[in-house]
Amino acid sequence: MSTHVVVNPATEEAVTEVGSASVEETDAAIERAAEAFPAWRDMAPGERARLLRRFAALVDDHIDELAELEVRNSGHTWGNATWEAGNVRDVLNYYSAAPERMTGLQIPVAGGINITVHEPLGVVGIIVPWNFPMPIAGWGFGPALAAGNTVVLKPAELTPLTAIRLGELGREAGLPDGVFTVIPGKGSVVGERFVTHPAVRKVCFTGSTEVGKRIMAGCADQVKRLTLELGGKSANIVFADSDLAKAAAAAPMAVFDNAGQDCCARSRILVEQSAYDEFVSLLEPAVQGIKVVDPADHSSEMGPLISAQQRTTVQGFVDEVDVAFTGSAPSGSGFWFPPTVVLADSVDQRIWREEVFGPVVAVMPFRDEAEAVQLANDTEFGLSGSIYTRDVGKALRVSRAVEAGNLSVNTHASVRYWTPFGGFKQSGLGRELGPDAPNAFTDVKNIFISDEGPA
Ligand code: NAP
Ligand code: MG
Repeated sequence: MSTHVVVNPATEEAVTEVGSASVEETDAAIERAAEAFPAWRDMAPGERARLLRRFAALVDDHIDELAELEVRNSGHTWGNATWEAGNVRDVLNYYSAAPERMTGLQIPVAGGINITVHEPLGVVGIIVPWNFPMPIAGWGFGPALAAGNTVVLKPAELTPLTAIRLGELGREAGLPDGVFTVIPGKGSVVGERFVTHPAVRKVCFTGSTEVGKRIMAGCADQVKRLTLELGGKSANIVFADSDLAKAAAAAPMAVFDNAGQDCCARSRILVEQSAYDEFVSLLEPAVQGIKVVDPADHSSEMGPLISAQQRTTVQGFVDEVDVAFTGSAPSGSGFWFPPTVVLADSVDQRIWREEVFGPVVAVMPFRDEAEAVQLANDTEFGLSGSIYTRDVGKALRVSRAVEAGNLSVNTHASVRYWTPFGGFKQSGLGRELGPDAPNAFTDVKNIFISDEGPA
């Protein structure tokens, strides 16, 4: 069996070694999931709900252990990692209420009765990236299991440890064999097999737009159901009438949280011309104040990048432009990169157009509301965005005009497990989270029952 050495990105030290599944091992896991499906689908809804609540309770009992694993494997700050483990618990609890509520319609017809039912699909394959290993896994397996599917899940090769532990906790909670299986391995092996194996009836992918497009093309072959959560280049639009101090204080963590490795990062800041100089002067101390230290230190606000390769990629973007100012970062071992601010001079610059996935933000002035919307929408992406203004009408108009799935006004908080999440344009396809997520793991069946008597 081939293995992968898991590295602590804050120290570059090896943490442990994890096996990488072969195609044969992946097939065996998919086949076990397919065998487990009928009994899981047919289990009484209240029983499925009870098992999911037990799973949630076990995750809650292990928050510190899971967070500690994530700090070491992914370099996430302690504060973020505990939130992330708690998010898995909350998602499981929320969707544990779904099995008894997967209701259909009764539609009036002549000559009988017509009902709709939500049939689970079968085996669902979830492909998780390295940036938020726990939440993104839970957003997939929580509603998929609740809707009566069995799940095979591939964590990113760089960050498999919390997913493996969650798989163990699911078994300990009493999920039957084959209902939820974590399969560590390479995207080109395990991930590809989810796309090509006919027993996998839906693929739930989060990651790069490039790989997402290939998965979409691959799924076409079997008309396989698909959810995509891809990249972003989201705008933070600051109007001159906003509380500028508040907007400037909030802007850094809206992009530098998780060292900028966040598909929702507000990595373009658009500032109304008349407030531009003041905003930039307020932004500088806010950026310099970010505490970039060992993520195991509970006061750390930003950790390292995930890998040497990611640091090289981020450095490549920064090498092309003039840096206005930066925050601090530790020197020595670890894949550190300081929070970095660039004043963009052209919409054609790569820093303005492409997802950096690192702690780099580009700032640009705009003239008026129309130009703000035009600049915000001048991108192939459309995941999230923020609007800062005291004018409610303007907030509403701009929120409706920006082509993105998740907008927030006078805050950057736009992800909650009980509200829908997903992208416009090339940021994705379909929605996760929110009340409708379990339905995305079903097909609707329409049944007409004739009331004719025997012929
Ligand atoms: P990626 O290649 O898209 O990886 C995401 C997941 O897909 C990983 O589990 C990966 O497996 C798997 N995968 C890779 N190739 C696959 C294939 N051919 N078939 C099926 N699964 C496959 O992302 P990355 O290379 O880690 O990161 C590159 C860039 O993508 C980042 O710099 C960032 O811009 C973007 N990104 C976006 C998000 C997001 O949340 N939207 C998340 C991560 C990355 P492995 O374990 O083998 O890598
Ligand atoms: Mg890749």
